[in-house]
Parts: sequence; structure tokens; C-alpha cells
Amino acid sequence: MRLFIAINFNKVTRARLLALRNELQSQSKRGRFSALENLHLTLVFLGECDAKQADAAKTAMDAAVFAPFYVSIERVGRFRRDGGDIWWAGIRADKSLLDLQSSLTEMLAESGFSTEKRKYSPHITLGREVVTDAEPWQIEAFGETVQRIELMKSERINGKLTYTKIFECGC
Ligand code: ATP
Ligand code: MG
Repeated sequence: MRLFIAINFNKVTRARLLALRNELQSQSKRGRFSALENLHLTLVFLGECDAKQADAAKTAMDAAVFAPFYVSIERVGRFRRDGGDIWWAGIRADKSLLDLQSSLTEMLAESGFSTEKRKYSPHITLGREVVTDAEPWQIEAFGETVQRIELMKSERINGKLTYTKIFECGC
């Protein structure tokens, strides 16, 4: 199974993210835009895992130390890609979020995972393969207090990208 560890947002935050997605979509010539239920913040992408690795991921999540913290969403930006960019809602890189992310990575490494070496750049994907004349923009910041992290399974069900929570832990 294909797994990642994420922060999922409440209804109000998701609705605001959806409004950003719609704004982006309305200014785009084409793209694959994220579904409401798929809007999330990835902390660590684990990739293909067996049952034993999934258990190790749960143990690592339980071992990661964090206190409730506020996530602030404050801009819309892009990663340049040939054939269409990835557009996202950008998160303020607060210490508590970065500390949680590195604590998780550390616990996972102890469990034998080799995770992404690139610097973590927290973002919520709004669309992929996007072709638009729009430029990144600042928004009036919004967000919420996060108290739990979730282990998500990613799969295609009847062609639809579907994320399912298989484990969660709070602080
Ligand atoms: P699709 O790949 O079908 O377009 P997706 O990227 O949302 O959709 P997954 O590839 O399963 O689905 O990824 C799940 C989550 O992990 C997404 O938030 C994705 O951005 C993130 N992710 C995927 N691959 C990586 C990677 N190599 N490094 C960091 N994050 C990743
Ligand atoms: Mg992907």
C-alpha cells in the first residue's frame, strides 16, 4: 500500500481551500484540480509499504513529540514543471510544524525508513499539470489549530484518487 503522513483540516478550512482552488481553476486553461476531500498537508511521504512497515510508521507517529500548534495558510504558489505546474496553498514555516516534521522523519529513520532528503516545503496541493497565466499571490491568512496527525493510504478507486485514513494519533 502507498502511504503518507498528513494533517487533515476541518470543514471550514477545507471550504476556504476549495475557494482558492476554484479561483485558481477559473484562471487556468487546464489542470487536474484537487477534490475537496483530498485537500491535505503532507508531512512525510512514505511510498509503497507492507504491513510491517505500516506498523513501524504507526510506532514512529506515536513516538513523535508535539503540542497543539496553529497552521497558517498565507499564499498561493507553484512548483514549475514541464507540461504544467503544481499549484498549492503555502503554509507559514513555523517552528512547531518544522519540528514535528523533523521529529517524524527522525523516528521513521530509526525504524528503517529512508525518507525524502530535500528540505521540507509545507504546501497543500490545489492542482497539478496546471497551465495558467496567473502569478502566485498572497492571501489573507487563515488556518486552524492542529492536534493530530494521520496515516493515509493513497489509491485509485475506479480511477479516482482516494485517500483513506488508516491510523491517527493526537497530542
Ligand atoms: P497523483 O500522484 O495520483 O497525481 P497524489 O500525488 O496526490 O496524486 P500520491 O502520489 O499518492 O498522490 O501522494 C500522496 C501525497 O504525498 C501527496 O500529498 C503528494 O504530494 C505527496 N508526495 C508524493 N510523492 C512525494 C515525494 N516523492 N515527496 C514528497 N511528497 C510526495
Ligand atoms: Mg503523486
